Amino acid sequence: MRFILFGSPGVGKGTQAKIISAKMNIPHISTGDILREAVHNKTPLGIKADEVMSRGELVSDEIMIGIIKDTLESQKCKNGFIMDGFPRTIPQAEELEKLLKSLNIPDVYLIYLHADEEEIVRRLTNRRACKKCQNIFVYSDIEGMAKCPVCGAEKSFYQRDDDKEEVIRKRIRVFNTTTKPVYTFYENKDRVISLDGTGEIDNITDHILEALKKKQKSIKTAFV
Ligand code: AMP
Repeated sequence: MRFILFGSPGVGKGTQAKIISAKMNIPHISTGDILREAVHNKTPLGIKADEVMSRGELVSDEIMIGIIKDTLESQKCKNGFIMDGFPRTIPQAEELEKLLKSLNIPDVYLIYLHADEEEIVRRLTNRRACKKCQNIFVYSDIEGMAKCPVCGAEKSFYQRDDDKEEVIRKRIRVFNTTTKPVYTFYENKDRVISLDGTGEIDNITDHILEALKKKQKSIKTAFV
């Protein structure tokens, strides 16, 4: 199974990708996670990306395309992938098409999760991350906890710079201006599945899997 999860920051792409990745046993490719790990490890890429990400802006297409090329060519993506956070610009979408073709990978679908902007701001400002394992939590779920429930790290919760309200509004603006055209790019190829990203997490997962199954029946190339 191969598909792109697309939508505004905070719409729940990462949450859905993690659930489906575990259920279907296919890798979750999150460019945001790859960059955050590089920032955490202070690699040359991380040092370059850190400031850009904290401002809510986009890392250059050249860097991002290089990352995706290495990832898609790796053994772990051989039998499928869920792409989350890429492509985010038209040049990225164009390069992805070329790359998939060169790897003999059939056309992928873009699942567009949408939600109201104020709901997204509310969700993101309510997120906290663990400094050690990078897992994300809803603030009210971990409020008062001394240790991270996943890795056990003590006093490790923090609010990511890019989850602060002014940065979130900027990220949404960047999505609407630079990233939204990627939706049209795939729509013109008749490869978009549009779904409501609000409601119960499990229901949204079911909707995604049902929609993909339906496509599988009508167009075999969506799944291989
Ligand atoms: P995310 O977790 O997907 O919202 O990504 C967090 C941040 O990483 C974004 O706000 C961008 O600064 C950067 N980033 C992630 N993916 C991309 C991409 N495909 N192109 C450019 N920047 C990206």
